[in-house]
Amino acid sequence: MKKLFKILIIAFMVCVLFIPSFSYADQVHRVTPGESLYRIGEKYGVTTNELIQNNSFLKSPNTLFVNQVIIIPETGQSVTYRVQAGDSLYRISQKFGVSMEALAQANRLKNWDTLYIGQILYVPSDSYTVKPGDTLYLIAQKFGVSVTALAKENNLNNLDYIYVGQVLTIPGSKSNTQKPGSGVLVDPRAEKYPDTFYFKGSSNSRRIALTFDDGPDEIYTPAILDILKAHNAKATFFLLGSKVKEQPELVNRMIKEGHTIGNHTWTHPDLRKVTNERLVSEIKQTEKAIMEVSGLTTSIMRAPYGAANESVIEQLQDLNYKVIDWNIDTADWRAETTSDEILINTLTNVTEDSIVLMHDSPADRSATVRALPELITTLNRNGYTFITTDEMLDVQAYR
Ligand SMILES: [Zn+2]
Repeated sequence: MKKLFKILIIAFMVCVLFIPSFSYADQVHRVTPGESLYRIGEKYGVTTNELIQNNSFLKSPNTLFVNQVIIIPETGQSVTYRVQAGDSLYRISQKFGVSMEALAQANRLKNWDTLYIGQILYVPSDSYTVKPGDTLYLIAQKFGVSVTALAKENNLNNLDYIYVGQVLTIPGSKSNTQKPGSGVLVDPRAEKYPDTFYFKGSSNSRRIALTFDDGPDEIYTPAILDILKAHNAKATFFLLGSKVKEQPELVNRMIKEGHTIGNHTWTHPDLRKVTNERLVSEIKQTEKAIMEVSGLTTSIMRAPYGAANESVIEQLQDLNYKVIDWNIDTADWRAETTSDEILINTLTNVTEDSIVLMHDSPADRSATVRALPELITTLNRNGYTFITTDEMLDVQAYR
């Protein structure tokens, strides 16, 4: 009896550990010999048209390559949330902008006070009401969706302007059957500061700029560099100054293998919340470390969290830096994101001249490393090449 109980407990733990906090609408299919889109659609119960819409990166829907990835759209899925330490039903209801009653009903909770850590709750809503202090980034993080997907879903043109009380639709939830097409997201910061702030290219050609933030990392960076080398793909690494000193040989390997390095500050602060003196020292200290290691002086940077408002952009402009944001967020910064989810997040959103946000540090990036070869191969075979951000944007990476 005791043994059975133990087994049940272990089985339960295993389930909890492997169920992600949020379920994703889509799934990954790998093409086998002889398969057509029609056949794949039949297999999953979706139409060829739905497949084409969900895989707008396909160069020719009639020519699939063996082992390439196709993202299968799925409807009728609901958002799930895993209870964390310190959560109460009230806090969760606030988080998702749904009533406690609705949560209790959807999960048949008899006692609202007894939630346990790891418990899976179904969230019976696809909307969220903006609270004071919220940013689009924070909301995206809360729901485990990309900022790009969230902005697209709600037709937001300005990522900095959401207002308290605004109701946002969370992508990937129940009533959302609309798929991101090849719609181009507008960023007013790029319009206001066309020579300083960039989030995508404008050549209308099949070029992708992969970017890796927060490194270099002694484990994941070499693995990523090996994959890029094997596929002859170039990328951009936004480095933390504090880590540059620890991994000088990796910095030089990046440069030697044709990648671009950029500045990502020293301690990764939200630059909107620091003084000008601190901002300048974060950039300059990192610039100096990179210069000492590589002999190069950086002139492109990425703001930590992408948190750059007009004031931050103007301060960086004064330092003669170009600010490089992104238009595709792989969400690999979330610990729970799997390699399949990275493929889904990228392939369903990718457009010409996309800048893709990825990470080679500081946590476990094995999902990123696993996703990368399939991502590159699938896009390569559909006519995409991988270049550095400075090449895509035609800006100087170094001065
Ligand atoms: Zn970062």
